[in-house]
Amino acid sequence: MCGIIGFCGNEEAVPILLEGLEKLEYRGYDSAGVAVLSDEGTLKIRKCKGRIASLREKIGSESPITGTVGIGHTRWATHGEPNDVNAHPQAGMSGRIVVVHNGIIENYRELREFLERRGYKFQSETDTEVVAQLMEYYYMGRGELMDAVYSMLDRIKGSYALGILCSDFPGQIIAARKDAPLLIGYGEGSNYIASDVTALLSHTRTVSYLEDEEVAVLSKDSVTVYDSGRLQVEKELHTVEWDVSAAEKGGYSHFMIKEIMEQPEAIRKTVSPRLRDGRIYFEELAEDADLIKNCSSIYIVGCGSAYHVGVVGKYMLEKALRIPVEVCLASEFRYSDPIVGPDSLVIVISQSGETLDTMAAMREAKKLGAKTLAIVNVIGSSIAREADHVIYTWAGPEIAVATTKAYSTQLVLLSMLTVYFQHQLGKISEDDYGAYIAALTDLPDKMNEILDNIGNIQKTASKYFNLDSMFFIGRNIDYALGLEGSLKLKEISYIHSESYAAGELKHGTISLMEPGVLVVAIATCKSVMDKTFSNMVEATSRGADAVVLTTEESAKTFEDSVRAILAVPETHDLLQANLNIVPLQLFAYYVALNRGCDIDKPRNLAKSVTVE
Ligand code: GLU
Repeated sequence: MCGIIGFCGNEEAVPILLEGLEKLEYRGYDSAGVAVLSDEGTLKIRKCKGRIASLREKIGSESPITGTVGIGHTRWATHGEPNDVNAHPQAGMSGRIVVVHNGIIENYRELREFLERRGYKFQSETDTEVVAQLMEYYYMGRGELMDAVYSMLDRIKGSYALGILCSDFPGQIIAARKDAPLLIGYGEGSNYIASDVTALLSHTRTVSYLEDEEVAVLSKDSVTVYDSGRLQVEKELHTVEWDVSAAEKGGYSHFMIKEIMEQPEAIRKTVSPRLRDGRIYFEELAEDADLIKNCSSIYIVGCGSAYHVGVVGKYMLEKALRIPVEVCLASEFRYSDPIVGPDSLVIVISQSGETLDTMAAMREAKKLGAKTLAIVNVIGSSIAREADHVIYTWAGPEIAVATTKAYSTQLVLLSMLTVYFQHQLGKISEDDYGAYIAALTDLPDKMNEILDNIGNIQKTASKYFNLDSMFFIGRNIDYALGLEGSLKLKEISYIHSESYAAGELKHGTISLMEPGVLVVAIATCKSVMDKTFSNMVEATSRGADAVVLTTEESAKTFEDSVRAILAVPETHDLLQANLNIVPLQLFAYYVALNRGCDIDKPRNLAKSVTVE
């Protein structure tokens, strides 16, 4: 979950490392550090608790550290509280080896005891320190750096992306990975490692992705990669298309609002390459034309917002295909002995394509013989590489921790898949197909209508931002939307919030309804709108306040019963969720803004969750 950057070249490393870390800060941000290796082999570390800005200050206020090779890290603590000592880089006892690490070393206790029995003294509470100490243990014994790397990798269990420096090898970085992302950037007279391509965009667009158990040795003018058997491997080079400005705020006060505003364009980019002559084409699935015909059950697996997309997907796919669909939390799926086999299609959803729980679930599904289809945003990411089929969302880099445009593009792809499969199964009429395509083509403009008129949403947010508790209710897809609306609010405003199927409220949670509680009723599914209305009134009758999210056409129904209505244009049933989510995202954003929260970097969270 943390960010790793490494540089070897001709320039001073510190500014490059700090700039890279700033780009990566969204991945984890409780502490940060750098280690720099001079040509003479002097290794210097600067690290501290807090944001990169604090690290910058520390570096500025202490004796300068110079060198053209270095590694940097921004941490999301798993073992040991965020403090100066636990920050990375972590060093071996003699200070010759330093390491930055993303992931968890599961057997660190046993290894720590092993080393302590041999006189090694530990400074930190981290699992990472054992990597540095263990490498040093092997290195000091034999003086062979690569032997030490492989011996250390042989002993550690768990997940890791590692950047390693050794003071006896100035000019060199060693990198290794297993179940955590790490890529190599190729520049002119310089080479890089990074956990995320956004850190490299201002330096190079040529990258290769390390595979599990590969080890790379970088100098300023060479990159050599070895497999787990120490055989050299040729890496395929990729060109990254994302442009630098896509990962910058561009005049907005937060990445989150910028990314909310980018949604119509992101939808357009995701949809249009897959539309031709009024038909949906998924070239990605062309070689498996009978995928849906051979399928008797569908699973959708994800975490957080990706899971919420899955809940919408279940309603859409089941209704259209009449195939049972289960939505599973990835962290549960893998340990639940799922009933999955060769006639199952398992759709996994992950923005980063690196979410460890989702990846593990996908591997479990593959092991059980299921076909896997991944919906991911990051090209070349681990999940994308391992899935049987991958469909990319073309949302561009998403930096704010709370997802918006990635969620929207995942959602639109699930609706497109629904219609695509429905057509393959002969379950959609020409007229219905045409109506869907027309609505799909209009979707970005309708989203823009909402984004051009946010005054009412801002006003509603400023009316309610001081409350302590909010409930989101709805039925059917509106319920699935509530899950995401509630999560957005919790993530960035820290207001307690729950999401309920509207009809379920009276089976318990209605006991919490009282003055000072807000119910956000989402009522756009026509067939159940009246029912949701009744459930909302049940809550307001007990003193709760209510805001309704509904379509412009239905707003009248609610006018006399609530103080605030968030109205959205009406569209096709399969696309309504794509419009509804926009006011919910904006509501969460403006509530958090009113409360003075750190919107892009909410406390305790990190963007890409690469630990279990
Ligand atoms: N497990 C390591 C630690 O707690 C690395 C955490 C991270 O990925 O940032 O220090």
